[in-house]
Amino acid sequence: MTVYFIGAGPGDPDLITVKGAKLVERCPVVLYTGSLVPAEVVARANDEALVLSSEAMDLDEIVSVCKQAYDNNQDVARVQTGDLSIYSSLAETTRRLDELGIDWQVVPGVSSFQASAAALGQELTLPEVCQTIILSRASGRTPVPDKENLKSLAQHEATLCLFLSISLIRKVVRELKEVYSDDWPVAVVEKASHPEQRIIRGTLDNITQQVEAAGIKATAMIIVSKVLQEKDFKDSKLYDNTFSHGFRRARIVEAN
Ligand code: SAH
Repeated sequence: MTVYFIGAGPGDPDLITVKGAKLVERCPVVLYTGSLVPAEVVARANDEALVLSSEAMDLDEIVSVCKQAYDNNQDVARVQTGDLSIYSSLAETTRRLDELGIDWQVVPGVSSFQASAAALGQELTLPEVCQTIILSRASGRTPVPDKENLKSLAQHEATLCLFLSISLIRKVVRELKEVYSDDWPVAVVEKASHPEQRIIRGTLDNITQQVEAAGIKATAMIIVSKVLQEKDFKDSKLYDNTFSHGFRRARIVEAN
């Protein structure tokens, strides 16, 4: 018996992995995170499966569903939004399962930061412009360790993807303006990959007003990066015909 933690992807039901979908189809117990996991994903469950929303459950109740399934020797598909490596409560749940001696495995999913980049049609790293992506959140009811404050993360000028922060957009902008100029590019993607997806592009100076006018309050990714505006970047070495790598020899040898 195993509890499978499955990343359901960002919303579009076709964005779950084949492996994740097959597990949802065959597990006799399916426990999904309420409104954030698309109904079509859960609809893949077997007719006889016990399908439960964890929306109103606390950690004890979630663990007790797993324990019950363990006692009945039934596999569990624990289906959660995006990927399990980011803000998913995987760690606290698996710590409990370990105490009970219950086996578990993780099946990765497409994260909402990736779906947001796809919606924007945007590579988040550009040759010689930006080679680092920081995934973080603004400090709110859930505190962020002081060393990870937005101002210090911004110093890197890496692409910043902020989860769980749209309701704190004013604070985000205020802190980032301490480091960046007012015209620093920002994009907000609400409900990436859902039919209701919305995209807002702007700068630190006008993003708050646009987000508030659009009434965006949840399920949105804030992406802050110069890559959103940069057109003057170099081609990468990957497809450069003067550059050899493991799979391809250079066709043109540069004179030294
Ligand atoms: N594990 C998830 C993140 C869970 S935290 C993942 O990998 O995506 C929840 C936050 O994710 C939301 O506050 C929002 O910032 C972001 N999010 C989730 N789904 C989203 C979507 N479809 N579009 C934009 N942001 C989304």
